[in-house]
Amino acid sequence: MASLRLETLRKEFDRGQIVAVDGLDLDIEDGEFVTLVGPSGCGKTTTLRMIAGLESATDGHIYIGDEDVTDVHAKNRDVAMVFQNYALYPHKTVEQNMGFGLRMSTDLSKDERHEKVYEAAEMMGIEDLLGDKPDELSGGQKQRVALGRAIVREPDIFLFDEPLSNLDAKLRTTMRTEIQRIQQELGITSVYVTHDQEEAMTMGDRIVILRDGELQQMGAPTNVYEQPVNSFVGGFIGSPSMNFIDVRARRDGDAVVLEDDHGAFSCRLAPSFADRIENTDAAFTIGIRPEDIFPAAESDRNALSATVEVVEPIGSDNYLYLDLAPDFIARVDSDIEPAPGETIRITFDEDDLHVFDGETGDVVGEGETVAEKASV
Ligand code: ATP
Repeated sequence: MASLRLETLRKEFDRGQIVAVDGLDLDIEDGEFVTLVGPSGCGKTTTLRMIAGLESATDGHIYIGDEDVTDVHAKNRDVAMVFQNYALYPHKTVEQNMGFGLRMSTDLSKDERHEKVYEAAEMMGIEDLLGDKPDELSGGQKQRVALGRAIVREPDIFLFDEPLSNLDAKLRTTMRTEIQRIQQELGITSVYVTHDQEEAMTMGDRIVILRDGELQQMGAPTNVYEQPVNSFVGGFIGSPSMNFIDVRARRDGDAVVLEDDHGAFSCRLAPSFADRIENTDAAFTIGIRPEDIFPAAESDRNALSATVEVVEPIGSDNYLYLDLAPDFIARVDSDIEPAPGETIRITFDEDDLHVFDGETGDVVGEGETVAEKASV
């Protein structure tokens, strides 16, 4: 087991025309489970492949424990990678697939190898399949074999590249729990790539959000959810997505009023909150999560009128699409069922408002810069 550190890691393709990973700094503790998430093409897989040694770094360093492995060949790095497509040898049995790495890289006897493979197979619940070939297995079973093969190696680091993407939703949930259980049991430092923010949130001790090869934020899932450092992270994390409204600010006594151009949104901020707004001439974007919106009571200070466009029941809750902005959703209890076209009054807690710079998208105020937050 070991910690993993990436230091200003960079990867260029096509003679520098494509920058897949752009100066990435990450510090992952020994035994930690970190998920790497971001939209397609943001550099997740390239980062993982550089850690594994399957791709060389253009610049920067990779440390496993105290060792700088940047230029160490893949086969000499103590990492095991699990791929989306399982990458099993079709003509070998499950046992041969799982034991192949041991045969190549250790001088264990046949019996010792069998014992280790059997132990890992038991852990994955596939000990009855050891004599089968991959084409006799279901997708879920194949991925268990691939996981078992990684476990057998007893590596310093597990790398997972979207390992559950080929499985159906129910199996994916089961396998998520399995992977977490095994990772905790073995305590092996793990980096798990996914484009599914829910998977990233539920599995990771910490979550890393990438965009265009650059680190946006790293933190505990709740920290990232509650305090996104910019509107990109705010919009990417959480489902349904955070709602955004472009607003202008105006001082009114010692308070600040935020208003959109259409007169649909107006919110009077208390003086304590208003301190965050230094320059009222600037443009801002308000972010508010669907689950932070409630039907308003008469006495609520920041109540808004909105027309319901669509009501989408999801069982436990209803999603109300409101005309405040495009795709503006309020997630309310299922017993709140306004008719489409009806005008309702909604409100929110001021503390749940996220205020972003209208130009840069960076969160406004809160005394921290993006760079500081990224390293939390
Ligand atoms: P996805 O979720 O779609 O797999 P990703 O976040 O894993 O995306 P990468 O596969 O790391 O993204 O790709 C990052 C960028 O680097 C993309 O623009 C991609 O087209 C480019 N890229 C990746 N591998 C190569 C390569 N071998 N040659 C040229 N460009 C590449």
